[in-house]
Amino acid sequence: MNDDFPKQIREVPLVAIRGSVVFPYTDVVLNFGRKKSIAAVNAAFQEDRVVAIFTQKDARTPEPDREDIHKIGTIAVVSQMMTTEGELHAVVRGQKRIELVEITSFEPYLIAKVREIDEEMIEEQNASEIEATANKLSELFKKAINIGKQAEIMTVMKLVSGKVDPYELVDQVASLLEIPTRKKQELLEIPSLQKRLEKVLEYLSHEVNVLELERTISDKTQKRFEDQMRKAMLREKKRTIEKELGEEDEFGAMGGTPQEEVQLYKKKIKEGGMPKEVEDKAQRELKRLSQMSQHNPESGYVRNYLDWLVDMPWKESAHSTVSVAKAEEVLDNEHYGIQKAKERILEHLSVMKVKENETKKHQKDSKDEEGKESESQSTILCFIGPPGVGKTSIGKSIAKALDRKFVRISLGGIRDEAEIRGHRRTYVGALPGRIIQGIKNAGTKNPVFMLDEVDKLGQDFRGDPSSALLEALDPEQNREFSDHYLEVPYDLSKVMFIATGNTLDNIPGPLRDRMEVIKFAGYTQDEKFHIAKKFLWPKQVRLHGLTDYKVTIADESLNEIINRYTREAGVRNLERNLATVCRKLAKLIAEKAKYPKVITVKDIRKFLGPEKFTSLIAENEDEIGMSTGLAVTGAGGEILFIEVALMPGRGRLTLTGQLGDVMKESATAAFTWAKSHWYDLDLPENFASKIDVHIHVPEGAQPKDGPSAGIAITTALVSALTGIPVHREVGMTGEVTLRGRVLEIGGVKEKVIAAHRAGLKTIILPKGNKKDMEDVPQEVKDEVHFIFAEKLSDVLPVALTKWPIAGVKTKKLVPRPSFLAVAS
Ligand code: ADP
Repeated sequence: MNDDFPKQIREVPLVAIRGSVVFPYTDVVLNFGRKKSIAAVNAAFQEDRVVAIFTQKDARTPEPDREDIHKIGTIAVVSQMMTTEGELHAVVRGQKRIELVEITSFEPYLIAKVREIDEEMIEEQNASEIEATANKLSELFKKAINIGKQAEIMTVMKLVSGKVDPYELVDQVASLLEIPTRKKQELLEIPSLQKRLEKVLEYLSHEVNVLELERTISDKTQKRFEDQMRKAMLREKKRTIEKELGEEDEFGAMGGTPQEEVQLYKKKIKEGGMPKEVEDKAQRELKRLSQMSQHNPESGYVRNYLDWLVDMPWKESAHSTVSVAKAEEVLDNEHYGIQKAKERILEHLSVMKVKENETKKHQKDSKDEEGKESESQSTILCFIGPPGVGKTSIGKSIAKALDRKFVRISLGGIRDEAEIRGHRRTYVGALPGRIIQGIKNAGTKNPVFMLDEVDKLGQDFRGDPSSALLEALDPEQNREFSDHYLEVPYDLSKVMFIATGNTLDNIPGPLRDRMEVIKFAGYTQDEKFHIAKKFLWPKQVRLHGLTDYKVTIADESLNEIINRYTREAGVRNLERNLATVCRKLAKLIAEKAKYPKVITVKDIRKFLGPEKFTSLIAENEDEIGMSTGLAVTGAGGEILFIEVALMPGRGRLTLTGQLGDVMKESATAAFTWAKSHWYDLDLPENFASKIDVHIHVPEGAQPKDGPSAGIAITTALVSALTGIPVHREVGMTGEVTLRGRVLEIGGVKEKVIAAHRAGLKTIILPKGNKKDMEDVPQEVKDEVHFIFAEKLSDVLPVALTKWPIAGVKTKKLVPRPSFLAVAS
């Protein structure tokens, strides 16, 4: 048939088709609706029945031009034709690939010059390759038909017979592929037979994979469906039998949830010791569950909820009476020092005890009157102090002393009320809040419950977690604490809550009012030494399994670690460093290497590397315009340096170093004081109008605020203005007024300990703070000289290396800046 068409350019009617591609060797039915197409097919049918068929690039183009159709198409013969209601249906048979040369006429239909594309002749050397690929394709096609590919029976029979030539095979299979028109067109355009075979093979194997997958899936679904049907029938039978025998469960039909499970829940509910209201709720939920099909996704939620209900501790705990003597013993045995905190805790426990006795008496007096005992434990302990000062471990000791469970949750960063009070059950993945979770973990109604980081509670649009917390802590309300998930009230009144935080500043007011605050100020070097020797070292030795090796640590080594490897208010890093030492020792022992029996300072260097801190103060010189202040931050007491620089200007004051408003005001007040005391300071009357002052407080980027740097700022400023250096070993803290009075400040103990740690020898404190000296450890009192100032004139003579100022003028110890020279 191929010979009917000489391989030359010829002119034929052209039809553009949409959404399909006509391949050579294939018979297709095409439906034409467009006028030009109908005219073209009609014209062809009247002559030699030959049309050129090209696929449109975009099916939406109504009247395609040359650019709108693909360049490669098929020449075809119209074998049959029929018209219905303005549409023309034609059976066409594809003959050969053709290339569009040009469109010669557009009216009344398209006529085009086309050139036949020569099929490449099969050469000897690749004939076998082509044959092999063609066989593979034919096999694969057979497989596809077997697993459900749709095709006309005649075509199938011909193709699987193995008697078609590869040209025909590849085009016929291509026309049957389930791929987009764009990909079919690509296939049409591939000139090489081998390449075409490979590509078609690739598409077909993908199709086969998909078909196979579909088949396995539907097989499985079918099987599962049959299984379920069978089970449902059996269950139904069982129920009928049970009914006949009169053994039907009180809940009625066990629609899906197995009996055993329901029985187990029933047992747990009975044994749970729930209050009536809770038990009713549990029974209702269980009934709901028993009527639910196991495959109902909601049954999972109900089960989860029931688990929470039955797992919560509802029973009254074995009554643990408070023994203050025992508590004292436990606290002393497990913690060194912190006398004041221990005393406060014991007082608190004593109050608890007294109230407990009262309640018992009260209960005896009026047995039928319920609920009055709630007044016990009316305040909550709150431990405030830097990290590593033993807040958590004291909490654990309290639990031990009271014979109660200890649980701990962190509130740091919680912004969502639901974290405290739970999500409602309607939420997917809902859970109770952290309070209820903590109680469940404890497994008793009366644990010692530690709430860490109360100072880091957040607040935003999702509700205020602190108010939810307040409800949990408030003895007036917490008998009936409502968690959104649990839905039934839970009695928290037996829980002993202890909150902890680093500073008091960020704890919401109402919460703070409920709490009895106990401050942990941080440890002195000596206290750290004893804690390390008595507690931390033996603990680490035990934890690292070194007890049998009898290794000890020299006192100097402990001090070395405290002074040169850590700088902290607590003992957390100290403990970490000791753990490192133990780890290195354990490694040596495991390797059977030589290890020291007594850890010396040299070993410390070897284990911990070079020292991390040198003494801050020792390296400093007495400087002009720099003083040492004392501050309290979340990490405990700290020393901070205040620097003042002067430059020619117009009396402006610049402040840097992340200072808060109050601290800025202190600086302004200090400047004003200096301006008004120009005479005492031996400065020119209008000195301030000629200079600019810059005050900077370095040390990290952490924000600093508070009035207590007042005297330190003034001292640094006076030093800069007069050119007299500040004693490097003097630290100071105190608020200052415009008239130079020195006012009382807070955090004395923390500040003083930090100053001592940093090696300061003299500390200036406001006179009003003399009363706080009783808190200051003896060790610090022994080593530091304290000055109590009432006025700035008590501060400056001590802080500055030279006083009175007049003496400076004559001796000129340090040259003064030229712009401050007194006009003679
Ligand atoms: P915080 O809760 O204040 O951050 P931790 O309770 O975690 O501190 O204390 C850190 C470590 O230091 C713990 O191993 C603790 O036992 C120990 N520790 C702290 N203070 C003392 C102390 N006074 N006596 C004994 N060990 C202490």
